[in-house]
Amino acid sequence: MKKDVEQIIDPGRRYGAWAGFPKGHARNVDNCAEQVYSNDREMRSYQCNRKKGHGYRGEFCKQHALKYPALGTPVVYAYRVSRWADGGITKQEIQGWTKEFVTLKNGTREKRQSQHDSWFETFDEAREFVLSRAIRAIKSAQKTIVTHEALIERWCDAEDVE
Ligand SMILES: [Zn+2]
Repeated sequence: MKKDVEQIIDPGRRYGAWAGFPKGHARNVDNCAEQVYSNDREMRSYQCNRKKGHGYRGEFCKQHALKYPALGTPVVYAYRVSRWADGGITKQEIQGWTKEFVTLKNGTREKRQSQHDSWFETFDEAREFVLSRAIRAIKSAQKTIVTHEALIERWCDAEDVE
């Protein structure tokens, strides 16, 4: 069985198959291998119609290349910015990836799609991501402080009564 990456770029792949059209459309090998969906209610699937030439083995368009990066692609990796953990931004290189995980040059294996981890082409994009997560963490912490202050006040009031 082919690895998921190879299945995605398979030249014999077919797109848009469904019960009423089981064969689907043959892949146009000049175009990006990614499967995309129509925006209407039918959510039909079809092959991305942009020219290929980027990403893994050059089989993707520029936009989908970020989802399917070429091995050795330099990336800016932003990670784990949450209430419980510090985050950071590091310069990395994609060493390998599967549908679910990406392996970075420092040897770490990270989830490809996570609320707290993501990779970016530019430092600015990574900084935006980290900042938005950090602000969310601060707001959440402020809420916790307010809740606890109210609790402490209530306890103190109870003390006064006795
Ligand atoms: Zn594409």
